[in-house]
Amino acid sequence: MEKRLDVVVVGAGIAGLTAAALLAREGLTVELLEAHQQSGGCAGTFRRGPYTFDVGATQVAGLEPGGSHQRLLAHFGLPLPQATPLDPACVVDLADGRPPVRIWRDPARWNAEREQQFPGSGRFWQLCATLHGANWAFASRDPVLPPRSLWDLGQLLPALRPANLASGLLAASSVADLLTLTGCGGDPRLRRFLDLQLRLYSQEPAERTAALYGATVLTMGQAPLGLWHLQSSMQVLSQQLEQALAAGGGQLRLRHRVTCLERSNEPGGGAGWRVRGERFERQATDVVLALPVQSLPDLLGEQLPAGYRQRLAQLPDPSGALVFYGAVERALLPANCPAHLQLDWADPGSLFVSVSHEGDGRAPAGLATVIASVFTPAKPWFGLEATAYDQAKAEALAAMQRGLESLLGISSEQWRHTELATPRGFERWTGRPFGFVGGLGQHPSRFGPFGLGSRTPLPGLWLCGDSIHPGEGTAAVGLSALMACRQLLAERGQTLNISGLNT
Ligand SMILES: Cc1cc2nc3c(=O)[nH]c(=O)nc-3n(C[C@H](O)[C@H](O)[C@H](O)COP(=O)(O)OP(=O)(O)OC[C@H]3O[C@@H](n4cnc5c(N)ncnc54)[C@H](O)[C@@H]3O)c2cc1C
Repeated sequence: MEKRLDVVVVGAGIAGLTAAALLAREGLTVELLEAHQQSGGCAGTFRRGPYTFDVGATQVAGLEPGGSHQRLLAHFGLPLPQATPLDPACVVDLADGRPPVRIWRDPARWNAEREQQFPGSGRFWQLCATLHGANWAFASRDPVLPPRSLWDLGQLLPALRPANLASGLLAASSVADLLTLTGCGGDPRLRRFLDLQLRLYSQEPAERTAALYGATVLTMGQAPLGLWHLQSSMQVLSQQLEQALAAGGGQLRLRHRVTCLERSNEPGGGAGWRVRGERFERQATDVVLALPVQSLPDLLGEQLPAGYRQRLAQLPDPSGALVFYGAVERALLPANCPAHLQLDWADPGSLFVSVSHEGDGRAPAGLATVIASVFTPAKPWFGLEATAYDQAKAEALAAMQRGLESLLGISSEQWRHTELATPRGFERWTGRPFGFVGGLGQHPSRFGPFGLGSRTPLPGLWLCGDSIHPGEGTAAVGLSALMACRQLLAERGQTLNISGLNT
């Protein structure tokens, strides 16, 4: 039997890598166990011939001063990855024959675009900006949400200001409620635009996205925040975190799929956890699980408290994703083709499209990779027999290709490469049950104070990742890891100091 570790972290996506690197830097003995042959999870990368494709995430938030990636990388003494700010952040084609909506990085330019596209909507955007201002200042004080102990409450209360108490009155409201409140609920085009954009970040349309969450994601594309395109590939983010883990003396073990977590009580050794896979076992005082919460029942079996199990069972299924990976000659794309586009498309649904930049490391000179994703109910893909599955997959691929050809003005024979990932592929790649993506969704009933805590009812078991506040996206899961690590270290009488904390 190997020596007991301080912490085993399970899952080397951005959340697990961040948690493991933070804890190793604080002097704890840490092993990070990852099922796949590489780290990164949904923010990883794969190669096909001359092309490098980002598996899921294609754009990054939180690189601005004070942003979550910036703060964490500075804490690890690492430089920011090479990246270009996205301007426009996205070009949204509502397929209504009118010019697409360009989400400019410059706030004044975006303001003018909004007024032209959605006349009279200023009051709605102003309310979003006010709520976002209060949210952002609150988030920068690193509150613990939802609080599950006195210590958590002690981190939450000092972060609150009168503006948060005022915006807290809208905690149960949706973005659609904000439209009604500001008298902007009568513009179907604005509503469609919001539905499309919000689904990307919250899995929900305007009427089911928490107002406080929606207000922030709708402001994310503008300076002083913004979205970035990473040079080389998304994998660089994971590589940097791997470096931080190694610098702290932590170990990353690839091809280590964890199948069972067992609370143990070693004689004389105090309580801890046995972490098992097919051919390995580790013992640790604490476990940080950086997987979707739908993995918990399988890993914990009967140890999962009944109330908690019931809470998990009552969560609605998150979405799955269909992701198209293609390549074309760059000259065939529209002039000045933006890096990110969205198209309101009926079958199989609205497409979010990412196009590589010339020289960004994803395609040879003169070629471009084109990635398009669409949400899909995940479970039905698992009930299909082989032939029906192949047919459904081919139909989805063809339908997405048609959408892309209409958006980009190319024809079907001009593709140099095409392939599609379904929720089955995502399950294989990321180990996420049913290939679920995007966490719990940001419905008011699951947002912030109403979500699942990183502190679990089982002592020494901590959660992070996109099921935990503040939700999905690489910037957000880094924050969830920071929150879980602060709690774990506080339990050991240690304080985690990250620049920007308690300011
Ligand atoms: C199609 C798509 C597009 C997206 N676009 C963006 C975007 O543009 N920008 C953005 O910021 N975010 C985007 N996201 C969301 C973002 O990628 C995720 O929220 C984030 O990467 C999740 O990180 P995570 O660490 O929580 O989980 P994951 O990335 O899922 O990592 C979990 C890790 O755990 C491993 N694992 C699973 N089970 C086990 C086990 N039993 N034992 C050991 N290891 C295990 C997996 O192999 C994986 O490496 C997108 C997601 C998808 C799917």
